Amino acid sequence: MNKKFVSVPTKLLTLIVTTLLFLAVGFSSLSYWRLQADYQEFQQNNIAQGQVQVNLHNSILRNKLTVWLESFTDLIELSQQDDFSTLAVQLEKQYDALQLHLNVEDIWLVDDKENILFATNDFPQVVQDNIAQVFRLQEPEHRIYCPQSCQLLLSLPLLNKQGDMVVVTMSTSLVDMLFALKTTLNRDVAVIRIPVKGNNGIKSTPAKVISASNMGLAESLLVMNKSYSALNQALEQGLYLDLKNNSYLINLLPLSKQAKQDFYLALIDDVTAYKAKNDAYQKRFILSLSLIFIMLAAFVYFISSPFTKRLLLLSNALPLLAQKKFGQFRQVDLKRPRLFADELDVLANSSQELSFELEQLNLVVEQKTKELENIAMYDLLTGLPNRNMLNYQLRKSLGNIARHKSGVAVLFLDLDDFKKVNDSNGHSIGDKLLIQAADRVRVSVGEVDLACRFGGDEFVIVLSHLRGVAEAIEVAEKVLLQFKDAIKLGSNIFYVSTSIGIAYTESATEKSDDLISHADIAMYEAKDNGGGQYHIYHQEMFQRVAHRVMLEGEVRQALAKQQFSLSLQPQICAKTKKIYGFEALLRWQHPDRGMISPEDFIPILENSQHMIELGYWIIRRCFELIVELKKYGLEDVRIAINLSAGQFIDANLPNFLNNLLAEFSLSAQSFELELTEQTLVKDMDHTIAMMQSLKNIGFSFAIDDFGTGYSSLAYLKKMPVDVIKIDKSFIFGMLENHSDFQIITSTIAMVKNLGLMVVAEGVETQAQLRSLTENDCDIIQGYYYSKPIPEKELLSSLDRQTTGGYWKVPKSVTDNLSADKSA
Ligand code: C2E
Ligand code: CA
Ligand code: CA
Repeated sequence: MNKKFVSVPTKLLTLIVTTLLFLAVGFSSLSYWRLQADYQEFQQNNIAQGQVQVNLHNSILRNKLTVWLESFTDLIELSQQDDFSTLAVQLEKQYDALQLHLNVEDIWLVDDKENILFATNDFPQVVQDNIAQVFRLQEPEHRIYCPQSCQLLLSLPLLNKQGDMVVVTMSTSLVDMLFALKTTLNRDVAVIRIPVKGNNGIKSTPAKVISASNMGLAESLLVMNKSYSALNQALEQGLYLDLKNNSYLINLLPLSKQAKQDFYLALIDDVTAYKAKNDAYQKRFILSLSLIFIMLAAFVYFISSPFTKRLLLLSNALPLLAQKKFGQFRQVDLKRPRLFADELDVLANSSQELSFELEQLNLVVEQKTKELENIAMYDLLTGLPNRNMLNYQLRKSLGNIARHKSGVAVLFLDLDDFKKVNDSNGHSIGDKLLIQAADRVRVSVGEVDLACRFGGDEFVIVLSHLRGVAEAIEVAEKVLLQFKDAIKLGSNIFYVSTSIGIAYTESATEKSDDLISHADIAMYEAKDNGGGQYHIYHQEMFQRVAHRVMLEGEVRQALAKQQFSLSLQPQICAKTKKIYGFEALLRWQHPDRGMISPEDFIPILENSQHMIELGYWIIRRCFELIVELKKYGLEDVRIAINLSAGQFIDANLPNFLNNLLAEFSLSAQSFELELTEQTLVKDMDHTIAMMQSLKNIGFSFAIDDFGTGYSSLAYLKKMPVDVIKIDKSFIFGMLENHSDFQIITSTIAMVKNLGLMVVAEGVETQAQLRSLTENDCDIIQGYYYSKPIPEKELLSSLDRQTTGGYWKVPKSVTDNLSADKSA
């Protein structure tokens, strides 16, 4: 998750700002409520004060008038008079004085029959009402009455000697009272008229200022553009108004309510100072709040910035640990000289400790890695580098080819017959032998070259910076020389040779695996050629191997598709012409390539699992054929079976043969097993043991191709051999080549001497036959009598060429023989 980065100071600051904001809102609303309460109190005081003053002035005015009237009636002795005529006359006389001193505007004198005894003006309804009230209640009555301007209307009852009652009503202007109020309340006052709100909305007629202590101010505040609701608000809770840099608070006191309009006393307070004080307070509040905020921000920054700096320093230094730069990490100054340690010091300490521990751990890991590398790169038994090292070094050497313009050679070594030593002397001797062999390989190569154990008894030498393949050959010869001397292990002496395959390249694109497998192929060539030698890899070798791999696949298919068959070549007793037996020869009818000679694929497949499989198929087929031959009447003939070297080494062979004998109820005497000299010398001890065990079952043995290999008559004595087959190459030239003839005659003589039988194969002419017969050869095989007969044609062919187990001598031959005899 990719989180947005917000530094710790910012987070702290945000926290503080939020807290401050809440505090500010809290305090402001508190102070607002406080102000509001103050204001309301102020306003109520205002109104109460106004009301008190209005009442006070009102009653003073009334008292003045009442006192005057009482003293006036005393003076004229109204109580001694029978009517009110004097009162009316005297009132008229006093009217001017009343106007002058008591601001009386009008006077009405009315008796109880509503006769106007004296009046200075009309007799409006309101005055009539007031008078009627006095007559009803028999006590003074007053009200404020505002026709144009406001007046106090005061009606007083008066009695004469008869007890008749009249009512004197006086109206006094309230202008004086306004000025008195202004003085006592120390604020402007005004009387205003507001039209009564009718049923259908707001009256369009605006409020009107009737009189005011400051007319201009009152009019601009109360009349201009003041809606009814604003005035209504003023009535209910007071109204704040700003006018030309001044602020005013207006409160309305009802004076008189009349049918179409109400009269109010407006108390106009100049609250400019009060508001200025309030504004100043608010400004101070905001200012101090911002000041506190700035100070706190600075405080947070100065407190946290060293922390964040140190944290950043640490986080920048931590990657050094991952880069294993422990010393450099510790040089970073994470601690600060200060009086009190804090969490960061603890963190710095632990990271220092961590660096020490990691360094220690790293050392251990490096050491263990080295040990593991050793295990991984070296062979434990011989101490030589192993396959892993080989792959690594060889790749390196090949990589250097282009730079050094030189060649690289791989020498693949395989000890000859090591398996035998291991099997017969035990693994501990085998191991010791390998150690000695490894030492000999090691001393054969130079300092810069690599000798390693590839596995088992295989070693590989890598030579770099070569000027040519000759230098590789030199090393190979050195190795071969090293193995010339016997290896002594206690009382045992071993002669161990090695086969070497050399692969050489100057191509930078060569792959290490290819080079090794080329050397391996060349090594097999060396081994196939008898071992104890080196072979240099070349392209044809690879083709041979490829061909072999292909053939192996084809053989498997051929077996399944029954493309193999046998041909049988008769072997005839030289003297009697009796059929001694048949040699079974393999035939492969390939679907694409036609008939393939066994010589073209058997040597290639030699030692492979496929050849062994094929060999068992051949043996079984021979058993079936012998049964057929016996049925045909040839009771004591035998079939000679060619055994490949691989098959003869196979431990299953005796079992397999035994099982077949039982299955077909046959005697082993019906078979002769042919082994080549090469098969014999491959593993002499094992061969002799195997021959012995098969001999015990009853099988007889023939040595095939005698004279072509290293075999000598000397070792024939040690082996349970019955028949010697002189190789056809000697027979072909026996009459022309004297030495061949000599070999044949001496071989026959010696073999006979050992009590063995001799077969001559490849006999093609009558002359050869005669010479061999004369020289005591026992059995003849060759085209002269018959080419190998395909198994399908066997019986019909026998029908044609034999009678009662004897070969019919061809007419021409008989003629020739008789001709010879006659000669
Ligand atoms: P080989 O065992 O020496 O077989 C004799 C070969 O000589 C046969 O060749 C045969 O056809 C040939 N031959 C016989 N008489 C004459 C003659 O008068 N003149 C000439 N020019 N050739 C004659 P083939 O059948 O081609 O076999 C070649 C080799 O293949 C055999 O040599 C043998 O080593 C191997 N082989 C054949 N069949 C088998 C088999 O079933 N198993 C094994 N392991 N090897 C076999
Ligand atoms: Ca043969
Ligand atoms: Ca042969």
